[in-house]
Amino acid sequence: MNVISNHMPTADLQALDASHHMHPFTAGAELAKKGARVITRADGVTLTDSDGNNILDAMSGLWCVNIGYGRHELADAAARQMKELPYYNTFFQTTHVPAIALAAKLAELAPRDLNHVFYACSGSEANDTNIRLARHYWSAKGKPDKKIIISRKNGYHGSTMGGASLGGMAPMHAQGGLPIADIHHIDQPNWFVEGGEMSPEEFGLERARQLEKAIHDLGEDKVAAFIAEPVQGAGGVIVPPETYWPEIQRICDAHDILLIADEVICGFGRTGNWFGSETYDIRPHIMTIAKGLSSGYAPIGGSLVCDEVAKTVNDAGDFNHGYTYSGHPVSCAVALENLRIIEEEQIVENVRDNTGPYLAEKWLQLADHPLIGEAKIVGMMASVAMTPDKAARAAFASEKGTIGMHCRNRCFANNLIMRHVGDRMIIAPPLTITTADIDILMERAVKSLDETYDLIRKEGLYKAA
Ligand SMILES: *Cc1c(COP(=O)(O)O)cnc(C)c1O
Repeated sequence: MNVISNHMPTADLQALDASHHMHPFTAGAELAKKGARVITRADGVTLTDSDGNNILDAMSGLWCVNIGYGRHELADAAARQMKELPYYNTFFQTTHVPAIALAAKLAELAPRDLNHVFYACSGSEANDTNIRLARHYWSAKGKPDKKIIISRKNGYHGSTMGGASLGGMAPMHAQGGLPIADIHHIDQPNWFVEGGEMSPEEFGLERARQLEKAIHDLGEDKVAAFIAEPVQGAGGVIVPPETYWPEIQRICDAHDILLIADEVICGFGRTGNWFGSETYDIRPHIMTIAKGLSSGYAPIGGSLVCDEVAKTVNDAGDFNHGYTYSGHPVSCAVALENLRIIEEEQIVENVRDNTGPYLAEKWLQLADHPLIGEAKIVGMMASVAMTPDKAARAAFASEKGTIGMHCRNRCFANNLIMRHVGDRMIIAPPLTITTADIDILMERAVKSLDETYDLIRKEGLYKAA
């Protein structure tokens, strides 16, 4: 076979891709007909495709390239580690320097007494760990019936059997026999869609109190934990009303359950603090981490665990769980280098004090656009809800996601990666984005929204359900 390279014609690459590559979250046959976009290289916030287009990646890949593309320090760290010790496991009473160094660094960065890490290779795996860890913890405390994990509809916690079960994505539950047993879902704090006549503040309390009701109905002696993202990411960058997290924290304090913060997106600077838990002043017993931990340069995830839970589990004998690549030395070395860069270049502080507020000022003005019903932003993650009727916060008459798809296509055409979740548009650009690139992002976003508005009016789609 010929060498397959960046220099092959796009159509040839697309044909091979269509023949042999099954894509995640994709209708394969439909994609095969039009061909996947081939990304060939990237630098800073810019992707280049096989046709030579330069595209501003306002999604940081999949919410993960926090320090931007093209940082050779991470490549060098990987190469050094591969030459010295490419692999060894951490199962049988062995360890290695990268796993030790990263664990110590994470303990230093994490809030409060989250001083222990159990390594995984992804966010999904880490959440599978969390299910077993939380249940094993209660078992070790003599409460084996505390097994139920409460999570939220439209939350995202990954795509493994465990992760997707914790998640509240109906289309995922519809395939493959999910959710697994003993997972209970409550409603999400999405005021724009579900808030009705309530004020956001009232609605936030109502949604939080569903947790207390669920604990009561299921029985506190049956509930192991509550898991949630500080800000729902894949669900559409749903920023909770201000009343939500304080009430959730009060309820978790009042009842004997663990709080698990899924920080896979919010962690490592995304919200303008090192962790979303700091932004929302919450005190989890366990945090799920992945994505920004290595800025996506190498696969790694983990569970950050508080002293009490770690001690209980450590004292209880073997924890019969782990992955071949738990604490993979190359991933750990890359993550360490990534964290060094985030710290030394004060990337979190810059998001909090400079680029975050700069983007926020512009992003929030989108609420004045005729197509936009609300604009939300925290740090470097933001969303806008498109609506045909602002006052009523109405949905479109067309099938959900139709307008979002139109808008995403306009963004593509304007060399901007902005994602749609239903008819909500979302961004989460690299934390290193400059104010000059924010200007370009906003210019392309507004142009794409204008074009979407024109297009759907022309096609008779600007109609409320
Ligand atoms: C992406 C994501 C996950 C899953 O991480 P993977 O690395 O894709 O397995 C879990 N939780 C949240 C909040 C995520 O955004």
